[in-house]
Amino acid sequence: MTLQTRLGLAILSAGLLSAASPARVESSGEAEPLNKLMDGNKRYAAVKYIHPHQTKYRRDLMAKGERPFAIVLSCSESRVPPEVIFDRGLGDLFVVRVAGNIADDAVIGSIEYAAEHLHVPLLMVLGHERCGAVSATVKGGKIPGHISSLTKAIGPAVEMVKGKSGDPLDNSVRANVEMVVEQLRTSKPILAGLIQEGRLKVAGARYDLDTGVVELLTGAKPKSAAGVPAQASHKVMAHPVSAPDDEDKPQGAASAGPKRIETAQPSRKVTAQPVLTLPDDHDEPKAATPASPKAKH
Ligand SMILES: [Zn+2]
Repeated sequence: MTLQTRLGLAILSAGLLSAASPARVESSGEAEPLNKLMDGNKRYAAVKYIHPHQTKYRRDLMAKGERPFAIVLSCSESRVPPEVIFDRGLGDLFVVRVAGNIADDAVIGSIEYAAEHLHVPLLMVLGHERCGAVSATVKGGKIPGHISSLTKAIGPAVEMVKGKSGDPLDNSVRANVEMVVEQLRTSKPILAGLIQEGRLKVAGARYDLDTGVVELLTGAKPKSAAGVPAQASHKVMAHPVSAPDDEDKPQGAASAGPKRIETAQPSRKVTAQPVLTLPDDHDEPKAATPASPKAKH
């Protein structure tokens, strides 16, 4: 998809078709959160990272408050850091990590805080290939110390796929994601309520350690080019990697001029503590010119 097409979609999704100029789109662009995640993963899997939102400017901005666009519940393993595999930076993701991406009370409480208080519209439960916690559960036997709290939580997922064809570990990884998604979807009163009100979507996904690809398993689907949910299982492969509509342009791209951080329109209600309202298209107050010595990744 070309950048122009993507910008066009951003206009449509923001309901700004009549008023929008390309510059307006950049300042208002609210790409669909799941698309933002999956687009970032495409960049990562294709080794075309842009490492957005990792500048001093962004750090200063985030010191004032946060407005992440997605919650990611993922495993603690060092090889699955969400900000890396979704090619994101400061203030983008509200990440909850626990071995085996299970949902105990503290995890659910953290997710509730992000969904209810920070108004994050998307929750992704992200399992991964060859997960150690799931593997320990599949193997069974005596589990020492508090590790057993993890395997107890994962146990029902392993049971669910017993006897099923295929790799028991990978089947269990997938079943565990589905189970946790269901657990969170039906978690009362907060998460279930937000979902019912249409304020929160939940997606389950599996990260492939070998390819770097995140595959959606369940739940919300990214919007297709026609703006309708994509059909069938969305396996993100090495599609042409497009720059997100809400990021700094990769080095060499023409700039539309200074970015408009100060023109941000509040897009949602601010409650209690400062919930930062920002346009998504910034890393720096001024866009880098093609000639700038900005480091190329
Ligand atoms: Zn794991």
